[in-house]
Parts: sequence; C-alpha cells; structure tokens
Amino acid sequence: MGKDRGREAGHPWGRVAELPSANGGPGGAPDTVPRQPQAGDFREEVGGGTPVGWGRTSKKKYRMPNSQKPGGAVANSSKRIASRFYQVKTGHCLTGQYLNWTKNRPTPQCWWCRYRTQTRDHLSKERPEWKPQQKILWAEVKKETGKGKDRCKVRDLLADGRCSQAVLDFLLTTDVGRRVAGGGGG
Ligand SMILES: [Zn+2]
Repeated sequence: MGKDRGREAGHPWGRVAELPSANGGPGGAPDTVPRQPQAGDFREEVGGGTPVGWGRTSKKKYRMPNSQKPGGAVANSSKRIASRFYQVKTGHCLTGQYLNWTKNRPTPQCWWCRYRTQTRDHLSKERPEWKPQQKILWAEVKKETGKGKDRCKVRDLLADGRCSQAVLDFLLTTDVGRRVAGGGGG
C-alpha cells in the first residue's frame, strides 16, 4: 500500500532523477544518482519461500500411553454402547426406578416381569430371560474380582474397570438400559 502511493506521488529518489540540474547539471557523475529500487532487488531477501519443515519439531505423533487411557475397554467400544455403559453406570438409564424418579413412569415396577422395583440389580441379576447372559457376566466378574453376584453390587461392578468388558458384553446382548416395554422406546 504505502510503497505504491510513494511511487505515484513522487518518490524522493525519483524526484532527484527527474532534476539532474540539482545534481550539478550535465557533466555530473551519473554514478552518484541514486537508483530507484526495483522489485527484483528484494527477491533475495523476501521471496525465499517457506523453509522446509518449518514449525515442526518432530515427525512423531504424540501417543497417550495405554496405562493413561481412561476406561480401557469402554473407550475402545463403539460410541453407542459406551454411552449406554455410562448411562447405566450413573444410573441415568432406562430402568423403571429411574424413569419413575424422573416422572416418566407412574411406578418403578419392572415392565417385563412386574417385579416391584426395576433396578440395575434386578436387570443384571434377576431377570429370567437374560439368565444365560447374566451367567456369563457374573462368571467373568468372579474370575476378575473373586466376588460372586450375591456379594457384588452393580454399583461396585460398574466402578471396577476389570469388569468393564464383561458389562459391555452384557449390555450388547441384552436390552438393559436400551428399551422400554411397549414399543416406542421413549
Ligand atoms: Zn423384571
């Protein structure tokens, strides 16, 4: 901007070149007349291009060590099942107890077996139709923690990272926290 304006309005150096008499008239040393700078003069300084590898300190990407990854099995699972896992974990999932508490259902009763309160415990331990899945879940839990289903609360189960994979498998193979009876789903 400033450069162009200076050239049009009469650059100081340009004015000197237009008035040779000021420099001693004809016969004066032409070598002393300052030359107006040209675009090419600055090419070496400015137009060098971006240096290769500029701004990069290392080609290696930073990777978080496995030991620092949160959740392990949960983090590696699909988003959908992971979100269900966390819903079940916090208790904010589709159980009769929670839906009754949030006033989305008139009673906390289990909509499958009419058990008085449908809790996570009920769904993971008592629900008859998921017996095979429960068996797998609790066998896995016993293997990992040494605790059987009678001694392990669902709360503890969900808090224990060693059981995450078993819980994820259980969620995948059942409708725990996924569906509300009567179609629709919510
Ligand atoms: Zn039930």
